[in-house]
Amino acid sequence: MDFRLSDEQEALRASVREFAREVVAPTIGEHYEQHTFPYEIVRQMGKMGLFGLPFAEEHGGMGGDYFALCLALEELARVDSSVAITLEAAVSLGAMPIYRFGTDEQKARWLPRLLSGEALAGFGLTEPGTGSDAGGTRTRAVLDGDEWVINGSKAFITNSGTDITAMVTVTAVTGTRPDGGKELSTIIVPSGTPGFTVAPAYSKVGWTASDTHELTFDDCRVPAANLLGERGRGFAQFLRILDEGRIAIAALAVGLAQGCVDESIKYARERQAFGQPIGNYQAIQFKIADMEMKAHTARLAYYDAAARMLAGEPFKRQAAIAKLHASTVAVDNAREATQIHGGYGFMNEYPVARFWRDSKILEIGEGTSEVQRMIIARDLGM
Ligand SMILES: Cc1cc2nc3c(=O)[nH]c(=O)nc-3n(C[C@H](O)[C@H](O)[C@H](O)COP(=O)(O)OP(=O)(O)OC[C@H]3O[C@@H](n4cnc5c(N)ncnc54)[C@H](O)[C@@H]3O)c2cc1C
Repeated sequence: MDFRLSDEQEALRASVREFAREVVAPTIGEHYEQHTFPYEIVRQMGKMGLFGLPFAEEHGGMGGDYFALCLALEELARVDSSVAITLEAAVSLGAMPIYRFGTDEQKARWLPRLLSGEALAGFGLTEPGTGSDAGGTRTRAVLDGDEWVINGSKAFITNSGTDITAMVTVTAVTGTRPDGGKELSTIIVPSGTPGFTVAPAYSKVGWTASDTHELTFDDCRVPAANLLGERGRGFAQFLRILDEGRIAIAALAVGLAQGCVDESIKYARERQAFGQPIGNYQAIQFKIADMEMKAHTARLAYYDAAARMLAGEPFKRQAAIAKLHASTVAVDNAREATQIHGGYGFMNEYPVARFWRDSKILEIGEGTSEVQRMIIARDLGM
């Protein structure tokens, strides 16, 4: 057993860390305040190859693996989570369904632009009336000649409304299974298709420099060939995408948790109280030691889940454990880092204020903490 990174992985981590510190850190605060999408940062991430990390070179990818993506997400989230979730959603929810389930034609049409970061894609599973219970999808798609006619709506869809969003994949009910249940399928809807409307961006508590919209489909017609993979496999497809995505969200959460440690050490060394730096007080040192312990154990949990996934072994339980633990740790560390910063921690100009606002969604998105516990318990045979 060896959890040390290879030279190549260390080099990737170092280059993303430098990018996060040199390019993201100086400008992201303004985007966060103004709720604007960081197009220039995304463009530069595209040039670095981050959007192509876990994909084969024949499709325009970097030939790396999912763990490489996780390392990049951790380093980005150590500085900012809006940027990290933009990459996570673009790769794991946007491009990955096409890569895993698409036809050669769909791959050839969409992947080159998605993997270079020139275009983004969204993944529309959640609906206004159903999230955790994703099988409760109400959006319907009916085959009419050689077209799907889609009606329904999707809620909270990341990367669905930027100027460079090329398409969204949506899950829809396409019929009834032999056992009477809903037949779910996944369909590609290009941006700008008549009947596909993107609502104005939500006003969010955190991740404010990321792009999230409600989408509506009103007699929206797309070619029958836009079906992604086999008809009726929609449920199995999104379960696979979400299992992987949980490892990526865990990595992002570890990054945020580690960023809280970084900022707390820096501040504790500078801030004076009662004649000395607050970092001299054991109460503060113990908080930081606990934060480091939590970030470290959460990192090991996502490394383990990723290793199992890449070895082709079952990883559902480990991915859920990693996501559950890392998101809990992120919220804990953000709360403690804010506490260490005192009143300044409540001021938006300090990164820990962003960390605090960005941490809560980690216990909700891509499966709530309750859902992770359900997955773990079910995997234990309960
Ligand atoms: C900023 C943001 C970005 C997002 N991006 C995307 C995206 O790109 N694509 C996408 O498809 N979705 C996206 N989501 C949606 C996200 O995945 C859902 O919000 C999440 O899965 C929870 O669903 P819900 O909000 O409907 O909550 P609900 O499912 O209504 O849950 C409400 C509460 O009930 C609990 N609960 C539900 N069922 C049970 C149960 N059986 N036992 C115990 N407790 C239960 C939940 O844990 C939660 O605490 C995003 C959300 C946000 C906020």
